[in-house]
Amino acid sequence: MTADIRWALIGASTIADEWMVDAIHSQPGAEIATVVSGSAQRAHEFATKHGIAAHSTDLDAVLADPSISAVYISSTNEKHLPQALAAAKAGKHVLCEKPLALTESEAAQIIDACASHKVRLGTNHHLRCAATHRKMRELIREGAVGTPLFVRVFHAVSLPPHLRGWRIEQPDAGGGVMLDISVHDIDTLRFLLDDEPVEVSAMASSGTMSSAGLADGVMAIVRFRGGALAQLHDAFTVPFASTGLEVHGTSGSLIATDVMTQRPIGEITLRTASGTQSIDIEHRNLYRTGVADFHRAITEGQSPAATGIDGYRSLVAALSLVQSAETGRHVTVPSRFAQ
Ligand code: NDP
Repeated sequence: MTADIRWALIGASTIADEWMVDAIHSQPGAEIATVVSGSAQRAHEFATKHGIAAHSTDLDAVLADPSISAVYISSTNEKHLPQALAAAKAGKHVLCEKPLALTESEAAQIIDACASHKVRLGTNHHLRCAATHRKMRELIREGAVGTPLFVRVFHAVSLPPHLRGWRIEQPDAGGGVMLDISVHDIDTLRFLLDDEPVEVSAMASSGTMSSAGLADGVMAIVRFRGGALAQLHDAFTVPFASTGLEVHGTSGSLIATDVMTQRPIGEITLRTASGTQSIDIEHRNLYRTGVADFHRAITEGQSPAATGIDGYRSLVAALSLVQSAETGRHVTVPSRFAQ
């Protein structure tokens, strides 16, 4: 039987290895046809490990295969643009890792290419697929906290040793904590608050883990159009902090612990005048949820969990943080595509 959606993986990456191969394999009617890498040996090892029938170093040849309908791009960030453009031109649906690209104009090019070739574009912002964040969004929309006034994000972690490569050493690959972690925070807050960042201010630290001058820690403030202020604390360098997210509104506070993570874990408490209530969560795998949503985007025309525009909007806010940290000024976030 032929699979409904045959995928090509572009990038023999850690995220594909640890999460996304499983996420794609778990979907009914999905098949990973091949993996493309810059190294024949890495492609071979990756394909063998995951039982993928084919592997290649020739992206053009893979994209020329009409039986492949979708690509998942998880290469280093500077490759997202050329690979996404090539895939769109070949008529393949594109699920691309975050950050969608390195610059505002690159991200816009990807959106335009996918639109003009009529293929779906998703950005793999996994946190909005977490049952915890989806529950918090629902509660906020129902008015559980009243008007959100302040948000605090705790996302300072210790970058695992096997990931201490291009992220901390290669500015050209789009490394640094703000394009790696803050971009996820911003996407999550855009999702939770249904709002857009308009202005940011950031101070970054460097040199604890990165010797290439890249930011390995940041504290930032983000102003949202609706008036909420968010505080972000993101780092690669903190071994013993826990993650979390708090939303404080006019009539309630949501306190979520262990929720800025790849794993389906975390707890949520709601505090209001009625008291403190623990919120029930049915945890599920974030990446499987994201791929399931992307499959429905292809087969049923619904929106991916995070669209290309979500990737664009979260990227431009993260780039604004970088600019603020570099210049010492508040930075206005570009407003293109802000709904
Ligand atoms: P990796 O460093 O594991 O992989 C990136 C690229 O590096 C691979 O495509 C591969 O190139 C190359 N590579 C992998 N292993 C080796 C090795 N041992 N020696 C030399 N080169 C190697 O990166 P990540 O998986 O951490 O990140 C990939 C992308 O996914 C990034 O865009 C990142 O931002 C994003 N990401 C997203 C996450 C999410 O939860 N949404 C989480 C983590 C990352 P080649 O393909 O040519 O073989």
